[in-house]
Amino acid sequence: MEGLRMALRSRGLVISNLPDKGRCLLADKDFYPGEVIISQNPYVCVPNNSSGESRCDGCFTTSNLKKCSGCQVVWYCGTTCQKSQWQLHRLECNMLSKLEKGRRKSVTPTIRLMLKLYLRRKLESEKVISTPPTENYNLVDALVAHMEDIDEKQLLLYAQMANLVYLMLQWPDSEINVKEIAQNFSRLACNAHTLSDSELRPLGTGLYPVISIINHSCLPNAVLVFEGSLAVVRAVEHIPKGGEVSNSLVLQGNYVHVLISYIETAGSTATRQKALKEQYFFTCACLRCIKVGQPDDVQESAILEGYRCTNEKCNGFLLRDSDNKKFVCQSCRNLRSKEELQKLAAEINGLSEEAQKSMSNNNAKESICVLKHVETMQRKLFHPYTVILLQTREKLLKMLMDQEDWQGALEYCKLTIPVYQKVYPEFHPLLGLQYYTCGKLEWLLGDTENAISSLTNAARVLGVTHGTNTPFVKELLMKLEEARAEASYKLQSCDE
Ligand SMILES: [Zn+2]
Ligand SMILES: [Zn+2]
Ligand SMILES: [Zn+2]
Ligand SMILES: [Zn+2]
Repeated sequence: MEGLRMALRSRGLVISNLPDKGRCLLADKDFYPGEVIISQNPYVCVPNNSSGESRCDGCFTTSNLKKCSGCQVVWYCGTTCQKSQWQLHRLECNMLSKLEKGRRKSVTPTIRLMLKLYLRRKLESEKVISTPPTENYNLVDALVAHMEDIDEKQLLLYAQMANLVYLMLQWPDSEINVKEIAQNFSRLACNAHTLSDSELRPLGTGLYPVISIINHSCLPNAVLVFEGSLAVVRAVEHIPKGGEVSNSLVLQGNYVHVLISYIETAGSTATRQKALKEQYFFTCACLRCIKVGQPDDVQESAILEGYRCTNEKCNGFLLRDSDNKKFVCQSCRNLRSKEELQKLAAEINGLSEEAQKSMSNNNAKESICVLKHVETMQRKLFHPYTVILLQTREKLLKMLMDQEDWQGALEYCKLTIPVYQKVYPEFHPLLGLQYYTCGKLEWLLGDTENAISSLTNAARVLGVTHGTNTPFVKELLMKLEEARAEASYKLQSCDE
């Protein structure tokens, strides 16, 4: 690990080992919003291929794909990608080809990720590929596996998958055993990252052992995004070189932790803690989580997941009355009975099921219609800033975009923005992307003035989270320039 320490030291980073949290990454220099703290290529990665969708194994694109003629399982967009993967795939291809056609379907992306992990380890030990300090199997071995926390059912599943990998590898017993492979499945489950595109749509899974050292916070000071398969961590606030403490920073000795979020942070403390416990097996003690039960935490939960006041104009949040039969608005003291809320919730559930049914029947028009009804009803039940209302509007926005109903999509997009502003910090990729969608829709509909304002907001946020030099943000800046040029042209023609 000495090589890794030195490699990180040269980037202004320090690894520390905490008795309760394990390894963590600390800042040994100032990082400013938008600055890259660390980036890493995947140690191994696979696209999320299913029967419905295939992606190139090298660059994850969906266009111009051809199947590998050897195994008929893996896809490539061309010879460049195929060549870049050949060292490893040559071995994998051979193993896949030995399986009978029917069994090849059971080789899921997760199984492939494991095969690739072992093949890479083999190539490293045979010195076929080099082992720089930030990319070698020792780093994978050092990741937590949490075997003791896994329930029996999951353990059985890992054992079954491990068996398949073991059979496919066909290595002598001394080199490998099923128990070790099962342990690595558990390791992947809590360490591998979902690889996504710039708009945060999932593309595949990758293991980035150095990025995995970074700890979680529900109030992070850094964000992880992907540029192709490269994982990039950028600061979203000033991370000082030790000494100075701001709100969301946790100090370790003299150093400040680099912290990203492993989960969706728009949720109550209970929701976040549950998600972290289930997938990552720890109880978060970040600055947001330690406030659990305090007045502002109670208020936050009641806003993100609670009911609305009966007074249309009141944005107060509701808390349970002491008799447990009513909910009381904390602003105007209006009451809502438990029965009334339950009745409304049951109606909404019925409608949601109906929407689900027409969605599975591919009846887009009908499901939009029912979902709009759901949204109206949810508005009567939930606080305007609840995550559930946000999700319904998000769904409607996507469906209306698919139907090319830009006006309808924009209406819902605009409704989500104040909620995004409320539930996320200033530099959050989802907030930036939402501004971007809003701007693109306004631009399409000829509302240049508002498009400029939305695109400017998008550029301010995404410039920090995605970096100003990435093709994605460059394209955004070009759209903004175009909109500004059009606005000034309109202004000129008005003057004349
Ligand atoms: Zn490709
Ligand atoms: Zn192949
Ligand atoms: Zn937390
Ligand atoms: Zn009220």
